[in-house]
Amino acid sequence: MNELLSDVSAVTIRWDSFLSWSSFLQNWLKPVFKKDHPKLLKTYHPKPQYIDDPDWMSKVLQSVIREHADHVHEALADELKSHYIHAFHGCRTDNAVSYHHHGIRLNDPNEQAAEVRKIVEQEEGLASMRPTIERNIAEFDSWDRDTGRVYLSADERSLIEDAGHYLIYGSEWMQCVLGWGAHAVLRERGVPTVIDVNLPLRTQPDETRRELASKMLEEWTRICANDAGHWVRDIDFSFILRNAVPSSWVISHHHPAYVLDPYYQRAKRITRDPSCPACERSES
Ligand SMILES: [Zn+2]
Repeated sequence: MNELLSDVSAVTIRWDSFLSWSSFLQNWLKPVFKKDHPKLLKTYHPKPQYIDDPDWMSKVLQSVIREHADHVHEALADELKSHYIHAFHGCRTDNAVSYHHHGIRLNDPNEQAAEVRKIVEQEEGLASMRPTIERNIAEFDSWDRDTGRVYLSADERSLIEDAGHYLIYGSEWMQCVLGWGAHAVLRERGVPTVIDVNLPLRTQPDETRRELASKMLEEWTRICANDAGHWVRDIDFSFILRNAVPSSWVISHHHPAYVLDPYYQRAKRITRDPSCPACERSES
C-alpha cells in the first residue's frame, strides 16, 4: 500500500458537503485507480436495487481499483489521522459564550444535578416538582449514564431531523430526571444551539476512523457511479470523546431555524429567535 502514501495537505471533511472531501479522496485514490475509472464507474452493471446497498457499493469500488478494497479501507483509516472533520455538538443554552471560552466539558452528573435544581427553582411551571426533586435526583438509577463523555455528530442533519431532543430539551440526563412533565417548560428555556467543532481525527480510535473511511468510500462510490450530483446521504455517526473538547477546536456555533421533535411525531419546532449574546463572537 505504499502507493497510497499521502502527499495531500490536511483537509477538514464536512460530511454533508461532498465537495469538501471528494477531491481529497479522489486524489488520494489516484495511485490505485484502474485506467478509465470514471467510465468504469458509470457503466457498472448491474445497477443497485436500492440507494444504499453496501454490497453493491463495495463491488463497484473493487471494480475500479487495483488493490483489494479491504486494504484501501485500512489505508484510508490510517490516512485520516492527518485530517479533520467538522463535527457538531447539539445542546440548548441561552448563551453559547462558555463553549467559546472553555470548550465542551465532559458530562458531569454533579453539574447536571445542579442545573436541574436551578431550573426547578427558577420555573414556576415546575413548582409542583420542588418537594420531590431532591429525592428524584438521589434515586435516579442512571446517574452515571454519560459520565466522562462528550458526544459529537458527523452530520448536523441527524441532530436536527432525527435526534432533535438534545436541541429542544437539553441533555438526556436532565430530561430523564425531570420527565415528560417538564417538556413544555424546557422548550421555552434557552435556544437550540449547535457547536461547530474542528475535530482532529488522530484523536479518535482506529475503529472509529475505519468506520468513517468505509462511509466515505461507500458514499463516494454511490455518488460517482450514479452520477448523483453532490447530495450526500445522512449518516447517523457519533464520536464519543473521553476527553473534553478544548476551546481551540470550537470554530463557531449557530442556532438552527427549526428542529424536529422525536417525542411528538416529529413536530416542527420553529426557533423563535435564533440568536444568543455570543452570536456576534461566532460571526467575527
Ligand atoms: Zn448564538
